[in-house]
Amino acid sequence: MDNVSKNKRSEIMSKIRGQDTKIEILVRSALFRRGFRFRKNVRSLPGIPDIVLPKYNSLVFVNGCFWHGHKNCSAFRLPKTRTKYWSDKISANSKRDQKNLRRLRAQGWRCFTVWECRLKKNFSHEIDKLEKKIKAQA
Ligand SMILES: [Zn+2]
Repeated sequence: MDNVSKNKRSEIMSKIRGQDTKIEILVRSALFRRGFRFRKNVRSLPGIPDIVLPKYNSLVFVNGCFWHGHKNCSAFRLPKTRTKYWSDKISANSKRDQKNLRRLRAQGWRCFTVWECRLKKNFSHEIDKLEKKIKAQA
């Protein structure tokens, strides 16, 4: 009986992954309004960065706290069912993120990550910080 909801949950979560999330769209439109021009979801780069700003040699990852295992995050909670499964999955995601960032930096990209919980808490402040970082000299 529980399997239905478990499978349903996996299905829902796997659909969320790899799509543009609402928060990504908000970040893109905020950057666009501030004059940035970019490409999105560039598949030729490790980790398929959410936002690629060639002019600034910069990449932005808009990370959901759950999928990317945001450390010390009050918004991050492991599900109470299949906890081990999710914990393994998320720690694998997090390791892969780190590996992708190392590869991207080795290719000369400047990489910035913005987190869902911080954006939800104070969106314009986070975008201000991001804008400054992007525009700062490498
Ligand atoms: Zn978080």
